[in-house]
Amino acid sequence: MVTEAMIEKIPKVELHDHLDGGVRPETILELAKEYSIDLPAGEPDQLAAWFHRGADRKNLVLYLEGFSVTLSVMQTQEGLERIAYEAMEDRRRDNVMYLEIRFAPILHLHKGLNLEQVVESVLRGLERGRKDFGMDYGLILCAMRNQEAGVSLEIAELAVAFRDRNVVGFDIAGDEFGHPPKRHIDAFQYIRNRNFNITIHAGEAFGIESIWQALQICGAHRIGHATRLVEDMVVQGTRIEKMSSLSHFIRDKRIPMEMCLSSNIQTGAAKSLEEHPFQLYFRNHFRVLLCTDNRLMSNTTLTKEMSLAVQYFGLTLRDLEKLTINSMKSAFVHYDERIRIIYDVLKPRFARLREETNPMD
Ligand SMILES: [Zn+2]
Repeated sequence: MVTEAMIEKIPKVELHDHLDGGVRPETILELAKEYSIDLPAGEPDQLAAWFHRGADRKNLVLYLEGFSVTLSVMQTQEGLERIAYEAMEDRRRDNVMYLEIRFAPILHLHKGLNLEQVVESVLRGLERGRKDFGMDYGLILCAMRNQEAGVSLEIAELAVAFRDRNVVGFDIAGDEFGHPPKRHIDAFQYIRNRNFNITIHAGEAFGIESIWQALQICGAHRIGHATRLVEDMVVQGTRIEKMSSLSHFIRDKRIPMEMCLSSNIQTGAAKSLEEHPFQLYFRNHFRVLLCTDNRLMSNTTLTKEMSLAVQYFGLTLRDLEKLTINSMKSAFVHYDERIRIIYDVLKPRFARLREETNPMD
């Protein structure tokens, strides 16, 4: 049996984590005071509880409401740098050894910063974190689904412009309903022409059509969530009786699916953990990854997400190692870096952990 204490020690890889969804409540309170911003609660615990309640309403649009509060304190260079630095510190406490963190620069211009200043501030915080906490990172820039196509192209250009400074990819996030990713085709085409990386939120609030578009129209290399791919399958228990060409394509091409258990239950993308398709995908050899999505809103850590997977789906330490290595293989950082982290960081730590927990293994 894998205990929570063991899971805490696991060296982790996180690929789907929103900067503005994982701010410390204490930091929000401090910065809000400094900027004279009113908050829905005055104590860290109450504020955290307010975010959790707001997120857990079985609807993606309602889930996204809390972000207006975190975003309100992320409009200055100091605020952004501090929050990025603290993000590294918090993930390192969870034993994250490689972090891909994402955010939408366009949502941080309310106090006069320009896009470059926003990205530079976040990178400064992440870079300080790398030095202080000895972990690696990549930054993903998000465009928003509900914004004009011209804006997403600008963000795509921004991502490519920072590719030599640890920006590793481009994403499109926000409300899926009524905002198909193909509207932003110019942005994706730009990224593809520049040989860069794409992940797309798809199959969370909307079904398989959205996943198909993300892959075949927009050229995504990874899918955020893909929870509703199950609608494309005929399932018997944990066995897939039949699946369409889209599911075959995803499995054949080893397309990584960044799955976020807690978040999926809170947004209603899955009804319950018992019914969550993670187990189905994992047992049938899809390349699934475990991620947090929004540590504050979803009240989670990677340790908690792994614990849920152990509790509900019976994952073993070997399974968690496989998931972690799969995450690192799926990262957007260059191949030589991925190999270095797998062989120099992850595998030795897992070997030590196995020895500690079961010397006969
Ligand atoms: Zn997300």
